[in-house]
Amino acid sequence: MNHGLNQIKTKGQHGASKVKQKLQRLLPKPSDKPLKPWTIYLGIAIVLVALFLITLPTILDDSKLEKLGYSELAINGIHEAELVDEVIELNRYNATINTVFENQLNVDPTYLPLYLVNSTVDDTLILKYQRLVVKGYSENEILTLLTTLKDYELTVLLTLPKIDDIQMYIDDCANHPDNSYASFTLDNQYYEPYNMDQSQQSDASNVNMLVNKLNYLGSDYSPLGLGEVSVRYAASGIQLAEECSAALSRMSEAYTSLGYPTGFFVSSGYRDYASQQSAYDGYVASVGADEANNYAIQPGFSEHQTGLAMDLASTAPDLTFEETTEFAWVSINCQDYGFILRYPQGKEYITGINYEPWHYRYVGVETAQAVVNSGMTYEEYYELYLRPLPENIDQLVIENQKAKEEEVVETIAPVETESLIPTIPADPRASATTSSDPQTSEESE
Ligand SMILES: [Zn+2]
Repeated sequence: MNHGLNQIKTKGQHGASKVKQKLQRLLPKPSDKPLKPWTIYLGIAIVLVALFLITLPTILDDSKLEKLGYSELAINGIHEAELVDEVIELNRYNATINTVFENQLNVDPTYLPLYLVNSTVDDTLILKYQRLVVKGYSENEILTLLTTLKDYELTVLLTLPKIDDIQMYIDDCANHPDNSYASFTLDNQYYEPYNMDQSQQSDASNVNMLVNKLNYLGSDYSPLGLGEVSVRYAASGIQLAEECSAALSRMSEAYTSLGYPTGFFVSSGYRDYASQQSAYDGYVASVGADEANNYAIQPGFSEHQTGLAMDLASTAPDLTFEETTEFAWVSINCQDYGFILRYPQGKEYITGINYEPWHYRYVGVETAQAVVNSGMTYEEYYELYLRPLPENIDQLVIENQKAKEEEVVETIAPVETESLIPTIPADPRASATTSSDPQTSEESE
């Protein structure tokens, strides 16, 4: 009976009940019992605990930053830059970082550690940092080197293979307070010339290629556009790369136009690998291998193989090249024609070659002028500004920073044992390598 009645009811109110059903599904079902007060309190408590747990990391981070010494304004800036973890990881207060974030300046998080050592993080500082990472120095070593070394000590370091004992280098530099960009020497030699494990092949595709006792050319390398230089500018049979030869003729014509009674010419240019080999073998045959290294450059390590290096001579009789008007003019003006005096006086330690007033290297006008203005040797300038950086340099920097924590753990133990030894004897390598100081060698390029 009821069933039948319901059916009629449903038929008549079909549309309205469907809407009602939908609404009922959406709306919470009315409870048949009223809420007890303790459930309300529990709900509020749960919400509060959840809120606390959500904000807890921020509270802890802020307290860490505050303990390190950062101001409230700086902490806000650090949050806005989303660099909380990075700054905490540095684990020390730094006034520069504080100022940077107080002013909400843009900071590249990858290079944040640099603010620990310098108030202004410019492109050159970033470049130095990147170069040291590529060399394989740890972040702690890099920050130590950047805080301790003077500019001209750091650029020399870039020309050397990675040094395991950086304190030895730092002490060595401290023992030479008279060093500068004008003149530089150290007690220890930090590389073994011609050691293939420490050396690398030069980037011969580029006119700015570096060739020295650590950077060599293959036996099959010969310069593109090699050609014989006109006897107007060179002794007969001299070959140079086209670009270098053209620059030489411009420089020579400029000097000739000044009307001096004497002139200069190229006395030695391109030397192929085979002729370097036979010259070197000749020395070895007559004086032995050890002695030969003091007189001759080993094949592949001579800049003359680039076709971009030349030795100049003067037509003035009875004078060394250094004493001539030609030298006085060329040494001052050569960069305007794309040449640099490659082995300057006082830089023998860095170039590995004795002072050679006659040897010039073509690198192009722009680079030559920049090298001269920098006051650096070509070794330093190349290693800082010209050597191609790996494409994944930012990634390498980040990996280097990540390795820091492991390194800290590793270095704690040795420090304790070391402190038990009252005096650390001088490194035997120090005296062993002094004898091979390039200044004492007599080889010529
Ligand atoms: Zn030379």
